[in-house]
Amino acid sequence: MKKFEKESLGIFPTPLHRLPNISRELGTNVWIKRDDLCGVALGGNKVRKLEYLLADAKKQGYDLVMTTGQAQSNHAMLTAACALRMGMDCILVLKKRGITERKGNQILNYLMGIDVRFVDTDSYDEIYKEMDRIGAELGRRVYKIPCGGSNALGSLGYVDCMQEISQSGMHFDHIVCACGSGGTAAGTILGASLYLPGTHVMCSMVDSDPFDVIVPQLMREAAELLEADVVLPVPDLVDMCGPGYSIPSEAGNEAISMMMRLEGIVLDTCYTGKAFAGLIQRAKVGEYKKDDNVLFIHSGGAGGLFAQNW
Ligand SMILES: *Cc1c(COP(=O)(O)O)cnc(C)c1O
Repeated sequence: MKKFEKESLGIFPTPLHRLPNISRELGTNVWIKRDDLCGVALGGNKVRKLEYLLADAKKQGYDLVMTTGQAQSNHAMLTAACALRMGMDCILVLKKRGITERKGNQILNYLMGIDVRFVDTDSYDEIYKEMDRIGAELGRRVYKIPCGGSNALGSLGYVDCMQEISQSGMHFDHIVCACGSGGTAAGTILGASLYLPGTHVMCSMVDSDPFDVIVPQLMREAAELLEADVVLPVPDLVDMCGPGYSIPSEAGNEAISMMMRLEGIVLDTCYTGKAFAGLIQRAKVGEYKKDDNVLFIHSGGAGGLFAQNW
């Protein structure tokens, strides 16, 4: 397969361990891949994507990157942290949506001295136009990273994660991850097809975009980049969005509380709580056998948790 350059930004491999108390509670073997502990800020799945995306920016000679998301975007905060570490400038052009005050990830953006601009729109086209406008105003070329870092190149980060998991020598019957912009789901499913034969991937959707179209498309594009000859499965996507993207759900909050109470591990309201609620739901309907190994991908997000009022 083809290889792409990566910038070393995180500490990999991340830990992988069993969750004894959750396993007892759910009647199966639940494991966790700690991408929340990958060493940049509060960790998270975006670091694996940014290793590819920012290497590409550097290779092409860019020294200014811009990305987008909602106000509490983990991806935006991590893009800023990683870009600064590489000596690049970063401007965040965020949607004026969600918690825009100096809370959660906005505290971290503030501490980094990041230029954050809010645009009152739901249209990414408008956001990208604004990025071009700012670039032209500054007379600088802009490396634009899409929302969530979810393009084919970014998705390769989760193909790597699956390879990393295969190197543990463990067999997992199931893997569960969150799906918010699709790149993690695409990389995980593609990576599992390549490196983890016999492992089923389920993705908890935390937004209401048409992921049944987006995820297969990203999977195909990423497989093409790698020149990988692989038969791609139809994604198993379950709707865990609840009242809306980034709005806490009851099931998600119960999952966050359970993980904190039983294992001392912090999940978040926007992604990992809802994703783990999907795993709990499947366990409760008897989807997992007693001897199965079920792996939950902890994709980070603690910053957003602390923007919420509880
Ligand atoms: C962005 C994000 C996700 C979702 O990943 P996508 O690749 O955007 O689908 C999951 N968890 C956390 C904490 C995130 O920040």
